[in-house]
Amino acid sequence: MTHIQTLAIHAGYSPKNGDPSVLPIAQSTTFRYTSTDAVARLFDLQEAGFFYTRLGNPTTDAVEQKIAALEGGVGAICTSSGQAALFTSVVTICRAGDHIVASSTIYGGSFNLLGSSLKRLGIDVTFVDQRQSNEELARAFRPNTRLVLGETIANPALTVLDIERFARLAHDHNVPLLVDNTFATPYLCRPFDFGADIVMHSTTKYMDGHAVQLGGVLVDSGNFDWTCGNFPEFTEPDPTYHGTVYTRDFGKQAFIVKARVQTIRDFGCVQTPQGAFYTDLGLQTLPQRMDCHCRNAEKVAAFLEGHAKVSHVNYPGLASSPDHALAQKYLPKGCAGVISFTLAGGREAGARFIDSLKLGTLEVHVADIRTCVLHPASSTHRQLNDEQLVECGIDPGLVRLSVGLEHVDDILADLAQALDKA
Ligand SMILES: *Cc1c(COP(=O)(O)O)cnc(C)c1O
Repeated sequence: MTHIQTLAIHAGYSPKNGDPSVLPIAQSTTFRYTSTDAVARLFDLQEAGFFYTRLGNPTTDAVEQKIAALEGGVGAICTSSGQAALFTSVVTICRAGDHIVASSTIYGGSFNLLGSSLKRLGIDVTFVDQRQSNEELARAFRPNTRLVLGETIANPALTVLDIERFARLAHDHNVPLLVDNTFATPYLCRPFDFGADIVMHSTTKYMDGHAVQLGGVLVDSGNFDWTCGNFPEFTEPDPTYHGTVYTRDFGKQAFIVKARVQTIRDFGCVQTPQGAFYTDLGLQTLPQRMDCHCRNAEKVAAFLEGHAKVSHVNYPGLASSPDHALAQKYLPKGCAGVISFTLAGGREAGARFIDSLKLGTLEVHVADIRTCVLHPASSTHRQLNDEQLVECGIDPGLVRLSVGLEHVDDILADLAQALDKA
């Protein structure tokens, strides 16, 4: 099993003689034991096993093993949402008084989590322009910096992260690089191959891919050296587990074990077995779906770029993108299905375009099998006037388009007739 198509179907679950072929849903909160000794060993982390679904469940565990295999990591943990995955990774690494360096183009939900909620809890953040030079970026670091964060393909800015450069920058400061790989998926890019230490996903997007299940996942590369001096919680005894020392007792899995047995135990933002099952269904066809999303989006981006009513198209797969060279390096198989473009006619044209679509649907979602669109000026950002929109970097005529898996000729015909009316 070396190819990602095979892993996507088979990794994580190996049925024995007479077992169900399809991963069963262990719809149980608890697990039975016959001796107190056996339970004591589980509670002291001396043995791996299931005893309560908040800490682990056979269905979720199989999906975690599959995603770890897809990303090439040593372990993974599924969370209740993408937001929960970011929260879990930050809280596992940082405590009040610590500081994070994050790309300013990260997803809005991540931006709020770091810039507002975690700030209230005493974890500070500096947002940086990821296109700055190494010298400029290095100035964002402080003695208490403990984490660097960026997105392979940012949602919705569609900037491409120079993962190797950011990994080097993080490691020069003895801190790990966390990469949100939601839009790229491990099929298009494996950030561990370029030096990232931890990967997270909102599995809600392409991994599920059918818009049925909210979820997140964290994957540990096993490569970061937590004994470098900056992370005492990894190298000193945890009194809540009889003095377990994560680096000593779990080696390369120190991060992912700490995330589960400390952060998820205490904050409880765990995926359900049923939710993990739905995510797994999506994962089985992830490579084939991503290929089709990429091919469709490439044709759509080229069509939009040549259209008179479109003043600008942002897609890293286009030669006109400022990140095209980075895309060729990190995303040789394609740049996924999300495109943004600007209508020359501004706010009114955007609204007319959206209202004229017949196939593409208006949705606050991206990255699933159905083509969908969002016009921020008439929906998510409708309280802002044109000047305020431009101030936050959004053109009044901007449309975000998530290209689905319908036949590309049907998608193009729909866009063409709606553009005629825009
Ligand atoms: C959607 C998204 C998230 C948040 O995930 P939820 O599953 O909605 O909580 C985080 N990062 C990126 C890049 C996303 O697109």
